Amino acid sequence: MLGRAATKLAEVSDSARLDAEILLGLSIDMPRSYLFAHPDDVLDDAASDRFDALLQRRLHGEPMAYIVGTREFWSRELLVSPATLIPRPETELLVELALREIPRKAEWSILDLGTGSGAIAIALAGERLLCEICAVDNSRAALAIARENARQLSLGNITFLEGSWTQPVRDRKFDVVVANPPYVRADDEALARLRHEPLEALASGEDGLDAIRALAVECADILADDGILLLEHGAEQLDDVASLLAASGWTDIRNHRDFSGHPRVTAARRGGK
Ligand code: GLN
Repeated sequence: MLGRAATKLAEVSDSARLDAEILLGLSIDMPRSYLFAHPDDVLDDAASDRFDALLQRRLHGEPMAYIVGTREFWSRELLVSPATLIPRPETELLVELALREIPRKAEWSILDLGTGSGAIAIALAGERLLCEICAVDNSRAALAIARENARQLSLGNITFLEGSWTQPVRDRKFDVVVANPPYVRADDEALARLRHEPLEALASGEDGLDAIRALAVECADILADDGILLLEHGAEQLDDVASLLAASGWTDIRNHRDFSGHPRVTAARRGGK
């Protein structure tokens, strides 16, 4: 049964066997390891129907993270839903770079814009318990997931706010602002493959830069002196992001590559340093 499922799944997945095992585990409400300890168990009809239903969802291209309901980020299991982007491993670079800027004992204010499942905010909150993290998202459904993630991990140093980019925090100043905004071009063919994820978390206008353009302007007013802005973007957007940040008066603009060697995060400062 697993073999047959894996063969079918190979049409949509690079990890077909693993997906089949996880889905089978889900259909009997057991971890994958149970399958190896009980290779001769036979599924009852109800479990077999559940397995087929899960298989169909995956065959229609639904990501494993949405079927299972979780995805690991920064070594923590986070809840995800179709209201949130699925956290990507390359986004851990953004966390790493932010942590490099924030001393261990710092009691800083940190802002995560477009928090989605809360992945970045939660990673930073867990590593810097004395910092206050503010996490903003425009989607109430995403914020509900993010809040639940923070609650399950017992992180009390994050505040979640609903609103568009900096709108809920215009009267405040932050030492660090991070964002993984939508940055895919509206006509990018990749969007078809990503169709199960929220379009507003992925696509951002004709050149994919609408959100980053807005952030370059808006974040200028909410950063403390010498504060740093860290933005994730697409590999080909390196030069465009640098020019539009420079045009908005940002200095010390530096790009950082992810583990695949792709330009992925640009850092910039206001004034000083
Ligand atoms: N890195 C994602 C992708 O291309 C896009 C995420 C985003 O737009 N923030 O799959």
